[in-house]
Amino acid sequence: MADLDLLNRFPRVRLMQGPTPIQRLSRLEQVLGDRRKGVSIWAKRDDLMELGGGGNKLRKLEFLLGQAMAEGCDTLVVTGGVQSNFTRLAAAACARIGLACEGVLAQMVPRDSEIYQANGNVVLDRLFGARVHILKTGDDAGEFALRRSSEIAASGGKAFLGTLGGSTPVGALGYVDCAFEIAVQSTEIGIAFDHVVIPNGSGGMHAGLAAGAALARNDPSRIRAYTVLSPSETCVAATVEKVNAVFDLLGKKDRILAQELAIDGAQLGGGYGMPTSEMVEAIGLVGRTEGLLLDPVYGGKAFAGLLSDIENEVIAPGSNVLFVMTGGSPGLYAYADALSSN
Ligand SMILES: *Cc1c(COP(=O)(O)O)cnc(C)c1O
Repeated sequence: MADLDLLNRFPRVRLMQGPTPIQRLSRLEQVLGDRRKGVSIWAKRDDLMELGGGGNKLRKLEFLLGQAMAEGCDTLVVTGGVQSNFTRLAAAACARIGLACEGVLAQMVPRDSEIYQANGNVVLDRLFGARVHILKTGDDAGEFALRRSSEIAASGGKAFLGTLGGSTPVGALGYVDCAFEIAVQSTEIGIAFDHVVIPNGSGGMHAGLAAGAALARNDPSRIRAYTVLSPSETCVAATVEKVNAVFDLLGKKDRILAQELAIDGAQLGGGYGMPTSEMVEAIGLVGRTEGLLLDPVYGGKAFAGLLSDIENEVIAPGSNVLFVMTGGSPGLYAYADALSSN
């Protein structure tokens, strides 16, 4: 069993009410029929949290905001793309604990429609009281954020910088905890999951889950990720580094090797935030059969990968699969034009 006290020495702000549920997607299985090849499909509902609409960034923010508070910061400055879920959840979390929040949003996706630039997450960032800076194409979010934190310092405040996706080793601790949570739930429901399926964007979730799995004596290669941001080789290299940085932070001598990370580049399509027809289909299928929401940038692509790998038997017939639903449904409104074929 994992050493559950391992995380206790890190400052943490509680933003979740407890473990997120795991449920079987029975109606989807029924509709897939023979096409599911006896695979049982379960969902870990990390989209189901009571703050800010929920999603995977809240787990990271528990530790990131813990660090920010411990350092005496009064403002959180985060960077992301225009439809950043991290910024939305950072804004909601800051609202809850009484910190100021600023989002520096870069043009990471070539979509200049009004709904992409102003709807979805952007509406909610502002609603949760964050100050939002939407940059022009080519402007560097990291530089802008550094400049803002110096300005905040000059006016007597103290900013904490949350970079892309919150995927620092500290942020990834949220998913080390989630790996332990899954191990406990798996014992409770009596199902040993052969695969845990996730999207990999900035890699923090994957890094935390892989480190947590290794520490709980589970095989990290049973985590099956679909990269949605960088080509697979870049993604593997970046994720290896992050997993090892998490081990370092935890004072562990463990190391992970590239071949222990299963990262598939087949769902990247035209790149980050670029819709694919498989993503549109996967979102429609899960919506029609389960009444559940996947998002167009992460979960939709990862679920498309899951369906494809069940079909081509990369996921062995009869396996038990846990798909981590990571939230991001506000992004659906920003992609309404791409989803209309459903
Ligand atoms: C950020 C995000 C991810 C990916 O997590 P990373 O740690 O960046 O790899 C997946 N799903 C949603 C909805 C996200 O917002």
